[in-house]
Amino acid sequence: MSRNDYEIVMGLEVHAELSTKTKIFCSCPTTFGAAPNTHTCPICMAMPGTLPVLNEKVVEYAVKAGLATNCEISRNSKNDRKNYFYPDLPKAYQISQFDQPLCEHGYVEIETSEGKKKIRLTRIHIEEDAGKLNHDDLGGGSLVDLNRAGVPLIEIVSEPDLRTAEEVEQYLRKLKSILEYIEVSDCKMQEGSLRADVNVSVRKIGSKEFGTRTEMKNMNSFRSIVRAIEYEAQRQIDVLEDGGKIDQETLRWDDVSGKTFSMRDKEDAQDYRYFPDPDLVAIKLSEEYIENIRQGLPELPESRKKRYLEEFKLSEKDANIIIASKYLSNLFEEATKISGNAKAVNNWIISDISRILNEKELEPNEIPFTSEHLANLVILIDKGTISSSIGKKVLEELFENPREPQKIIEEKGWAQISDEGAIKEVVLKILEANPQSVADYKAGKDRALGFLVGQAMKETKGKANPQMLNQMFLENLK
Ligand code: ADP
Ligand code: MG
Ligand code: ZN
Repeated sequence: MSRNDYEIVMGLEVHAELSTKTKIFCSCPTTFGAAPNTHTCPICMAMPGTLPVLNEKVVEYAVKAGLATNCEISRNSKNDRKNYFYPDLPKAYQISQFDQPLCEHGYVEIETSEGKKKIRLTRIHIEEDAGKLNHDDLGGGSLVDLNRAGVPLIEIVSEPDLRTAEEVEQYLRKLKSILEYIEVSDCKMQEGSLRADVNVSVRKIGSKEFGTRTEMKNMNSFRSIVRAIEYEAQRQIDVLEDGGKIDQETLRWDDVSGKTFSMRDKEDAQDYRYFPDPDLVAIKLSEEYIENIRQGLPELPESRKKRYLEEFKLSEKDANIIIASKYLSNLFEEATKISGNAKAVNNWIISDISRILNEKELEPNEIPFTSEHLANLVILIDKGTISSSIGKKVLEELFENPREPQKIIEEKGWAQISDEGAIKEVVLKILEANPQSVADYKAGKDRALGFLVGQAMKETKGKANPQMLNQMFLENLK
């Protein structure tokens, strides 16, 4: 039997740090990157005798996330203690939610090369993040930084509905875009604001039972996730084909060697001794509270996409690229509103802007210029002040040193030559320098005209107005 006789089954546990100003049970700030242990207080450092108070914003953000992913919102919910020992967790328990999560039974719709598919969400619950261990290479020990302890998280648990690495990637991208649109998390994967535990099992195609799963913890790059899934699925198939069996274990993916390693096995044997946290009151939500949040939800990516197809006649493919990021989508809408040219704005975003983002390894929200800059670039081309090839150079400038496109073309002397006298001068010069092409054209070789226009463009460094140039050549070749 081979790889093709097996099916991969996956379910994800996605952790997103919420972008509340303060932590979940104390008023310490949640900002990333501060000096170690400066964002701490007796509560998040777990001093005896301290009491947690639930941050209301955390509930609001989690309910928002639940509503945006089609979940049922629990009217009655609570916080539970999940007991385990680890040096980054000074209380020796994490406050999480066990049997009454805030949100349940949702779904998100994804789109892959195979078409559309609904991925069911089991639940979304709130919990606190743990601290962080910094391994001290010089001293040989580990130092704990509790700035992250108590940063609010939502954990989004999917059903085992995912079947390919492509589906997993699309699912994560969709979740990320939804969380960005509703502004509950900055989703910065490189800072760990969004990370996924990927559960993988394999089974023979046609089999009804799921295989034993392994879990790869804390993955935070799309590329690693796709590689890790391919590797881990193949590893499991090889074990089964050799007559072995899969251990349910927690794995660590190593990007350098491209392999998974065992962290601890038989995780199911670990007993977290969950019980309701006696220091926190039950969470009771009224219909009115939930309805208010529902009413306040912003427009979600799916709805924007629908509008782009109908209102602006974008292709499905282009619309997907634009809505994937709230930032790109806002850029598109604002620049279109100012310039009145949706088609041109769309083309800039999906071609040159996307390419430059890729080359520079930037996220859309790191684009340095404004939607007004982009709109004005479009307007300058529409008015014929610059050609579209000069436009590309203006865009490069906007990435390097953003300022008004009008100013850029003035500084650089890039304005299009639309002066009849100047154009005529160039045309006559090129005709004189290329007698063979003139003869060819007169002998019926139309292609010679293209060559002459090209020469004139070269001469003017791409600045001549192409329509006028063409016209002038035709007149002078008669
Ligand atoms: P735990 O919290 O112990 O990891 P959960 O029951 O919350 O366990 O499930 C974790 C994830 O594992 C879920 O996303 C679920 O869809 C997924 N999962 C469960 N069984 C399998 C399986 N056989 N193969 C792949 N994924 C699975
Ligand atoms: Mg798990
Ligand atoms: Zn604190």
